[in-house]
Amino acid sequence: MTDQALVVFDGVAKRFGNFVAVEKLNLEIRKGEFLAIMGSSGCGKTTTLRMLAGLEAPSEGEIRLDGKRINDLPTWNRDTPMVWQSLALFPFLTVRENVEFSLRMRGADKAARRRRVDKWLERMQITEFADRNVAHLSGGQRQRVALARSLVTEPQILLLDEPLSALDAHLKVRMQSVLSNLQRELGITFVYVTHSQSEAFSMADRVVIMSRGRIEQIGNPQEIYRAPRTKFVAEFLGSSNIFAGEVSNVSEAAVKISTPAGEFDVVPNAAKPLSKGNKATFVVSDDRLHLSNRPPEDRLNRLQASVVGEEFVGATAVIHLEGAERIEIKVQKSHDELEQLNLEPGAQVWVSWRPDATHILPGE
Ligand code: ATP
Repeated sequence: MTDQALVVFDGVAKRFGNFVAVEKLNLEIRKGEFLAIMGSSGCGKTTTLRMLAGLEAPSEGEIRLDGKRINDLPTWNRDTPMVWQSLALFPFLTVRENVEFSLRMRGADKAARRRRVDKWLERMQITEFADRNVAHLSGGQRQRVALARSLVTEPQILLLDEPLSALDAHLKVRMQSVLSNLQRELGITFVYVTHSQSEAFSMADRVVIMSRGRIEQIGNPQEIYRAPRTKFVAEFLGSSNIFAGEVSNVSEAAVKISTPAGEFDVVPNAAKPLSKGNKATFVVSDDRLHLSNRPPEDRLNRLQASVVGEEFVGATAVIHLEGAERIEIKVQKSHDELEQLNLEPGAQVWVSWRPDATHILPGE
């Protein structure tokens, strides 16, 4: 991956009548990166991708591909192929005919077409199905055909719109590794729209989080997970405990924030200097909290809460708790760790965390 921008959205907006689907978007997509655009339904992620593909015209601003304005370039001249959620394969054609389609449209000669199609059938491990009708393939095989069909022109960029959402959980995980390996080996840019955090975070170099037509945060998965910029991002990720309050004391090592759940020491955030009396919101992710049945002896941030319930999430479980003023708290732990504790609903537990596990939201 290089830092050079392949795509630039420069103040791009999209309105449908009076409705603003995308608001003044500024975004650079780097050459060779795997960029995921994530957000809840209706946030404008598909519209952003469709503008890049040439399926929607921006109402405002400029989109540049490799330095050239492409606002008015028709879809078929852009070389920005897209893999759809529905895959949109031609149902009456064979695998080979599907994969060959865009080469035909470009008027490539027969021998060249054959060579290129063979290469991509091979690459996607679908050679043995070449003459089969696509209607008679499994979901995973159809995914591979859709990828081969989009990559056969060897574009610089591939757009993917929730391509895995129709697959079952097992196949989804397998296709995630197919996609990330493919992207790494080809070195081309992938722009991947999804509402799934696990897909975005497991594959992407950088993630864009959108809400109501605007970018809330761009960063690598680690950054976004550990240091969300806004309450929206923290809530969207779902793994953060959010505490809002007022600064009661500031020293070099810690800021004290007084919240309805208690007063806590928080590591100052260089991006947001705070003074006494300022409103501040901080987060602690659910995997950084400790749980015990007795008050922790260390001088840690701590509070008492009662157990509401337990949620099974594979290798770990999330314990839902309620603290003072009905504050909701969640703690993620391995099943082994939880075995040592009494976590019957209603049981009183102590939750504690180190000040350096906290993060003040700079964008609030
Ligand atoms: P989803 O995950 O549900 O696909 P999204 O984040 O991809 O959501 P978009 O499809 O980009 O959202 O849509 C953004 C907003 O623009 C939505 O409120 C949608 O209803 C609206 N919208 C999209 N296309 C049109 C259209 N052609 N006419 C009117 N409104 C539209």
